[in-house]
Amino acid sequence: MNRECNIVKDIISLYVEDMVSRDTRTFIEEHLEHCPECRSELEHIRKPVELVTDMSAAPINDLKKKLFVRRVQTVLFTTALVLAIAVSVFAIMTAPRFFPYSRSLVQVTEGQNGVLTITFDNSVTGYGYTVRGDKERGTEIYCINAWDTVWDKHITDRGQQNIVITPTSNADIAVYYAQNNGSEDVLIYGLNMDDNAGTVTLPRLILIQYFGMAMLALTILIMARFLFRRREKVKIWLNRIIPFPIAYILAHICTKGISFYSYSAQRDFSIIVLVAILLYCVMLAGGSLYKAKKERKS
Ligand SMILES: [Zn+2]
Repeated sequence: MNRECNIVKDIISLYVEDMVSRDTRTFIEEHLEHCPECRSELEHIRKPVELVTDMSAAPINDLKKKLFVRRVQTVLFTTALVLAIAVSVFAIMTAPRFFPYSRSLVQVTEGQNGVLTITFDNSVTGYGYTVRGDKERGTEIYCINAWDTVWDKHITDRGQQNIVITPTSNADIAVYYAQNNGSEDVLIYGLNMDDNAGTVTLPRLILIQYFGMAMLALTILIMARFLFRRREKVKIWLNRIIPFPIAYILAHICTKGISFYSYSAQRDFSIIVLVAILLYCVMLAGGSLYKAKKERKS
């Protein structure tokens, strides 16, 4: 090792940082050309420097992004789960419990101009009715039902429930009480004008159709998942779609149990869809979090 080498070694880090004058640069480069020892020293200095620039921002940003995504997923998972449980409990508590007919349950009073007031017993907290008209015969048939809910009974006081019926024109009116329990509708006002005496208001079975559709969709999707197991892109999409029919099936069970008939199908279906969307979020976020946890462990 000669004197020149020592000088070069002293200033080589400045040379790497590009902090030397042009003359010094020329001197170092001329020396490096014929001195392999200093060249290897230069290589040695350069490498860690390059590594450090590589290591700097990118992976840290990546990690920050990952942590952020994980935090969002955790919040989504928790919020959606809490909401799904809350909506299910609320749905069960506000599910109408229909009253069977009794004399004290419902009173019909006739007012002026044929206006009818239907007054329910205090235990009734809600009611519904449908009207069937026959314009040719000039008849109007009202079919009413009444219910309470766990929620109304313990939490709200809705007061007495009344229905006021104002007949259109001179129609003959008949009012039936639908018991919604498989028993016959009871005529509570007017003459029996129904051709088929002894009508029973039937529950709607639309929910079993939707449930069946969800089961069918799930079966098809699982089969597709099997067929396309080697196609990465298709697989990813199927993995995102498959939880939805599962969420729908779970939502049905959470809010309706294993009952498939409904006298308030629209209400029940809206609640099932809402809970299904929430459970879908829970499953997607939960799935990602579980995957991240497994990756960290391995
Ligand atoms: Zn040298």
